[in-house]
Amino acid sequence: METIVLRYGEIGLKGKNRDVFENALVRDIREKTKHMDEVTIKRYHGRMYVDYESYDYDEIVDILTHTFGIVSISPVKKCDVTLEDMMAEAKSQVEELIQSMGSFTFKVEARRSNKGFYLTSPEIMKHVGGYINQTFLDQLRVDVHHPEIVVNIEVREHVYIYTKSIPGQGGMPYKTAGKGMLLLSGGIDSPVAGYLMAKRGVQLEAVHFHSYPFTSDRSKEKVLDLARKLTKYVGQIRVHSVNILEIQRAIGEHCPSEEMTILSRRFMMAIAERIANRRKYKSLITGENIAQVASQTMEGLTVTNSRVKLPVFRPLIAYDKVDIIKVAKKIDTYETSILPFEDCCTVFLPEKVVIKPVLEDIEASEAKLDVEDLINRAVKESESIILTYEH
Ligand code: ATP
Ligand code: MG
Repeated sequence: METIVLRYGEIGLKGKNRDVFENALVRDIREKTKHMDEVTIKRYHGRMYVDYESYDYDEIVDILTHTFGIVSISPVKKCDVTLEDMMAEAKSQVEELIQSMGSFTFKVEARRSNKGFYLTSPEIMKHVGGYINQTFLDQLRVDVHHPEIVVNIEVREHVYIYTKSIPGQGGMPYKTAGKGMLLLSGGIDSPVAGYLMAKRGVQLEAVHFHSYPFTSDRSKEKVLDLARKLTKYVGQIRVHSVNILEIQRAIGEHCPSEEMTILSRRFMMAIAERIANRRKYKSLITGENIAQVASQTMEGLTVTNSRVKLPVFRPLIAYDKVDIIKVAKKIDTYETSILPFEDCCTVFLPEKVVIKPVLEDIEASEAKLDVEDLINRAVKESESIILTYEH
């Protein structure tokens, strides 16, 4: 068996609740690795260790670096509890790093939880540090404050040594921060909004609105593909699909054409809230962003917001588009998002839209519609599908 040590940042700061967060992280890793042969997770003196079969290395690294709550991971090498073995193993790891990095500054960190070993932690650091320094005089320099490389040595039943650190996602373990119903379109923004909330521990379900047959099966498939990208991080996600064609027809027939977008948005919020309540989800999440498009003015956001009672989280509200795109590329949703399939909003896009809607006017327009009946029918005919990450 091989071992990887996990580093988690904020969880460690959570005082009494630390157990809750650590347990959630363990549960998440177990769930994501249950198809693998032999993966065991151990907690030991405030750290987490994952044991795995060596042939699973690439896959386990892939899983752990896409699991929220983990700041970084390090593959560990084990050796016997003798100073000679420690020095030899530390030397071989440093040698490997020199080959890839050239010269660097370093320090040795030691933790001795096995009190049977005759050297204390400071003594181990001194001996191994001195030895490494002497061996690689030309390439290495000791820097105890800001070293580029830390040679970690943990003395337990064996000695664990690690130097490499692979960055993870950070954030908080999934499902530790409540539940949010994501309004997921086929655009660039909403998958990113979902990712950012999930990264803070919020459990996701998604709802998508379409105007089939005016919008095609492929545009629906595109949204499912985006949700599938998120399963890489969250494991599993339920996606509700709601047809709002009837609603858009009713709006088109009875209301001013420039109010089409804002009125559809209010219906989307109301329906998303209805589904959220039924599923016991406590908030809504959108990819809205101030000033990005005509419907996302402060007045527009206020009017859509006032349609619902649940809190609406908009993690992208102050992001620049270039920064949203950066995250979209990182989470691999960008290429799918820019595929040119029609969206329900583009099908009925009016030539002119209200940029500063007034709530009273919008409510007056809504009063011309049988809102309850339209919502009930749309919700009743909605479908849902559970997507699971495919390894
Ligand atoms: P996105 O890239 O997420 O589509 P956008 O910049 O295109 O965002 P809008 O089309 O104005 O912005 O949509 C704002 C938000 O409203 C979206 O981020 C999403 O949360 C929600 N939304 C819009 N259209 C849909 C839809 N068809 N299904 C579900 N949610 C939607
Ligand atoms: Mg959109």
